[in-house]
Amino acid sequence: MEFKGFMEKFMQSAKRTQEVVVQKSGDVAKMTKQKMAIMATEAKIKDAYTEIGKLVYDAYRDNEGDSDIIETKCQEIDELYADLEHAKETYAKLRNMKRCTVCQKENAAEAQFCSKCGSALAEQVDTMPQSAKEEPIVEVETAE
Ligand SMILES: [Zn+2]
Repeated sequence: MEFKGFMEKFMQSAKRTQEVVVQKSGDVAKMTKQKMAIMATEAKIKDAYTEIGKLVYDAYRDNEGDSDIIETKCQEIDELYADLEHAKETYAKLRNMKRCTVCQKENAAEAQFCSKCGSALAEQVDTMPQSAKEEPIVEVETAE
């Protein structure tokens, strides 16, 4: 009887361990995917820089600048950087880290101050985009 009890406990704990491993490998897959997304976006930014360089050179060589195309490319890079920030944010969350909004340094989730610049770290609860929380609507009641 003793042995049976032991085996039951053993099997239960083995099952639990397996579940934890499955959970973790799922996270690893997500993290890998996120890391790949970051690298892909960084590669796109690099390509866009190269394209801008070529546009600038072509304009110099032909002595006719097309600043519109260059500007459009620059705006593309702006968007790519926004994507990159978002991807890095998600990646940090997956790794249970939080990023400093001032210097972008990653800190442990439980940290209250940034280890690099000392800024107070916000609680990592809101997932609202930056633009949505920039200007809070303040209702002013005018009592007459
Ligand atoms: Zn910081």
